[in-house]
Amino acid sequence: MTETAVIGAGPAGCAAAITLARAGRQVTLIDRCASAPESVCGEFLSEDAVSLLRGLGLTPLSLGAVRLHGLRVAAGARVAAASLPFAAYGLPRQRLDAALRDLAISCGVKLIAGVTVQGADPAPEGWSLRGTPVRARHAVLATGKHAFRGQPRASRSRAVGLKLHLEELHLAPEIALLRFQGGYAGLQPGPDGRANLCLALTGPVPSGTEGLLERVRGGSALAGRLLAEARPAWTRPLAVAGLPFGFVHCGTGDLYRVGDQLSVIPSLAGDGIAMALASGIAAAESIVLGRNAAEFHRAWGRRIAPQMQLAMAGAWLFRSMPAVFMAALGSAAFRGLMRATRLSGQSAARADAVSLSRAGLSGALGASGFYGPIRGTAPDPPRPPGRARP
Ligand SMILES: Cc1cc2nc3c(=O)[nH]c(=O)nc-3n(C[C@H](O)[C@H](O)[C@H](O)COP(=O)(O)OP(=O)(O)OC[C@H]3O[C@@H](n4cnc5c(N)ncnc54)[C@H](O)[C@@H]3O)c2cc1C
Repeated sequence: MTETAVIGAGPAGCAAAITLARAGRQVTLIDRCASAPESVCGEFLSEDAVSLLRGLGLTPLSLGAVRLHGLRVAAGARVAAASLPFAAYGLPRQRLDAALRDLAISCGVKLIAGVTVQGADPAPEGWSLRGTPVRARHAVLATGKHAFRGQPRASRSRAVGLKLHLEELHLAPEIALLRFQGGYAGLQPGPDGRANLCLALTGPVPSGTEGLLERVRGGSALAGRLLAEARPAWTRPLAVAGLPFGFVHCGTGDLYRVGDQLSVIPSLAGDGIAMALASGIAAAESIVLGRNAAEFHRAWGRRIAPQMQLAMAGAWLFRSMPAVFMAALGSAAFRGLMRATRLSGQSAARADAVSLSRAGLSGALGASGFYGPIRGTAPDPPRPPGRARP
């Protein structure tokens, strides 16, 4: 019997496992892939993601991340540009996820890689997992974009995500948001002359790498220019269907949900990795503090509601009225919107949180900012269960 089982070793699962291990807890982390997998993702690391990674002990630049300075948006013949109001980076997800797995192992986490968990059943003293003999007192669901039996998310969504790495495409250090029929793509440089092209769309899915490139090139003159010499690094794009953008879990139950199993921000916001890391750390803090899963989910929902609403509105505007979206780019209001769609722009929602230091916990915990300083009247700190106090 392990104390906590974390199902899924993406950013959310690794962040939860690392935080628990550093708080002295026994953790088993299970992933269906034997090594860090490719993941459909724009690979844009926002300032929130960077600072959460630094808190965990990883520096994106030391992993080879490319610094991004600007944002260029294109639809049809129009192009608009702005500088990013915060430091951002491009880093391949496989590289990031591998570094997080290594860090988790070095913190004492037991990693079981190459095993798919088929379900989680309540057992007398916690959880019994299907597909593995692991039993645990607490279970954290971090399977991200992938459905998990018995734990449904939002009603079926028609949104599809596609990703393709491109060889030897030397781009300016900026992210290009490229509108096309049925969706938009993010194109940005990564290390070693490789670029990442990532699409979110509804409706007919382009077939193969050439179909994908043609769809994006057809959406704007800028895409036509940037992708004129594009050479796919893979034989097929990576795809994921049924993306529930805007989903926020508010159910009860004793399973702690984190990352995309807890909330799914529109990809346009480029803050999903930060939300995955922050929710993983916050769930770990909740477990250590003895907060139950339902309480944690409710607090998370309150915290991210404003960010989620703004991100949904921004994505809708870009899809429906790209000219208005582009006209606003570079204005003070737009820069404010970009900041407000970051986790760190949502400090007000932390007002009801409980101070970790008052709960007698410090060090590895508190990194999510979730259980931040008390403002106004805060309830007495909960008594950590059993072995919580060192
Ligand atoms: C099109 C698109 C573009 C995006 N672009 C960006 C971006 O540029 N920047 C950004 O910050 N965010 C972006 N996001 C969001 C970001 O990718 C996610 O929010 C983030 O990956 C969520 O992390 P996670 O750990 O919850 O899940 P994931 O990264 O999906 O990891 C889940 C892990 O669980 C494992 N797993 C799944 N099922 C099982 C099982 N049954 N048993 C065991 N293991 C299992 C998987 O192998 C995987 O390792 C984008 C999303 C999409 C769809």
